[in-house]
Amino acid sequence: MVIDMSTIRGARFVIKDFKKAGYEAFIVGGAVRDHLLHMPISDIDITTNAKPHQVQKLFKKTIPTGLKYGTVTVFIGEDAYEVTTYRVDGPYVDGRHPEDVSFEATAEDDVKRRDFTMNGLLMDETGQIIDYVGGKADIKARLIRAIGDPVTRFEEDQLRMLRAFHFVSKLGFDIERKTIDAIKETAKNIENVAMERIMDEMIKILKGDHLKKALYNLVKTGMYKHLPGLDKGIKYVLTMSEMPFVDAFFTISFALHGDVPDAWPFSNRHRHRYKVAAMLANTVDVFDPKTLYTYGVDLCLLANKTAFLLGKSTNMKRQIEEDFDRLPIKSELDLAIRPMQLVKILEKKQGAWLSALLKDMVLAVLDGELQNNYDALIRYAKTHEQPKESGHGTHSQ
Ligand code: ATP
Ligand code: MG
Repeated sequence: MVIDMSTIRGARFVIKDFKKAGYEAFIVGGAVRDHLLHMPISDIDITTNAKPHQVQKLFKKTIPTGLKYGTVTVFIGEDAYEVTTYRVDGPYVDGRHPEDVSFEATAEDDVKRRDFTMNGLLMDETGQIIDYVGGKADIKARLIRAIGDPVTRFEEDQLRMLRAFHFVSKLGFDIERKTIDAIKETAKNIENVAMERIMDEMIKILKGDHLKKALYNLVKTGMYKHLPGLDKGIKYVLTMSEMPFVDAFFTISFALHGDVPDAWPFSNRHRHRYKVAAMLANTVDVFDPKTLYTYGVDLCLLANKTAFLLGKSTNMKRQIEEDFDRLPIKSELDLAIRPMQLVKILEKKQGAWLSALLKDMVLAVLDGELQNNYDALIRYAKTHEQPKESGHGTHSQ
């Protein structure tokens, strides 16, 4: 959905509906914060003393998106609102989730369980702000401050530490002194948090407008040492004048680290991308036709960009793109012969020899040793029937 002023207005209508039914309700969290900062709003949270089943009764279209924590998503036309019942959290056991939650709570209890003062503001249906935590002053001072005792809050839920860096990157705020000291003290605990969650926050950090400031804080708090394989990269990127995008950041880091640590739950595609691009950035100076063919233009561009940013190479973007466009062949499918035609003409059973032969032919074409036409390919196939053991790592058995 598109979120703008009219959505905030829409949320005020939702609040009016709650009030008409005799409940309290407020807009809370990021929407209020970003509204005060005149920034685009990503989603609207509403907090209320209505219990989840009462919320479901009150609106036509709802989905219970997180009943355990009291969250029901309410749909009004195109717009969605995350409605959560006021709650106080029971003891945290796993450093991430409260063991149980109680819905016997007030609006003030509810904001006090939230992470940072800037995220603890309430807005009523008239647009008035209710502030139990000093959030307004902190937004004005552009400070990220934990609500309550920071060490306790970061011990309860360790992901909050990374949320602080994510907000630094998004907003450019500073982290308040005691809050940052608490992160220094408890940074190591981040190792207990599931890597999926860490990766989500890390990617948000990398996408922020104030990445450099966030990276600086990661170093200052020692947190950077607990992010597998990123320590050298973070320190290096801090010396750069322009910040890299997500892919280049990870590739720089893993090129400097020498590997992509298994701990990061990247998709296979991304893991492969970072691994190969980092390897190429460390080892390849010239992107010859074979390299361009084997790894593809995207990976070669990323590798060269990484090597360039690391000061190990010139920027060869144009040349790589042009050379790739000029490759005589971009895939085995471009060979002027079909694999089944080879099987027939050579009178052999299909087997590993075939893919080895195709690969040999492709490389010979790329080298300019072989013309990509039917007759030349047949001649080549007949004279190279038994691909050599050495060379391209093929097996004849
Ligand atoms: P954005 O959506 O712009 O990233 P946000 O502040 O809206 O920022 P959400 O993750 O959408 O962040 O969470 C909504 C609100 O829920 C927060 O503003 C905060 O009040 C509360 N909250 C979220 N995560 C936590 C947490 N780990 N601990 C305490 N409160 C939290
Ligand atoms: Mg939000």
